[in-house]
Amino acid sequence: MKEQNFTSIDHGSDNFSCQNCSHQVETTGAGSSHRNHCPNCLFSLHVDDEQGDRAADCGGVMEPISIWVKKNGEWALIHRCKICGELNHNRIAADDNPLKLLSLSVKPLANPPFPIERIKDLL
Ligand SMILES: [Zn+2]
Ligand SMILES: [Zn+2]
Repeated sequence: MKEQNFTSIDHGSDNFSCQNCSHQVETTGAGSSHRNHCPNCLFSLHVDDEQGDRAADCGGVMEPISIWVKKNGEWALIHRCKICGELNHNRIAADDNPLKLLSLSVKPLANPPFPIERIKDLL
């Protein structure tokens, strides 16, 4: 299988295959000029220092770990690099997997840091 990565996305319409889930990602028609994460699993690659600059040499897979709700109500994804631990944020795109976004947003509630069966004692 030919290895392609997210770095091809700044060349315009080059499609690429996600390094996490192998989803074929189309870089056009996403409602965004730069698609920087996979719409299926929401993983990204550590290729930017600042958004869109392609200046990072790391190249690690970045896992979506949380949702950031901005002032205007817009959602952004918080990505964490699996190699160097760097945190990044990226706007969600129109074709991002809505179930994946929702499951990410309720993850802390589904995995509270205390025993969930004791929750009635806390209420
Ligand atoms: Zn993917
Ligand atoms: Zn990194």
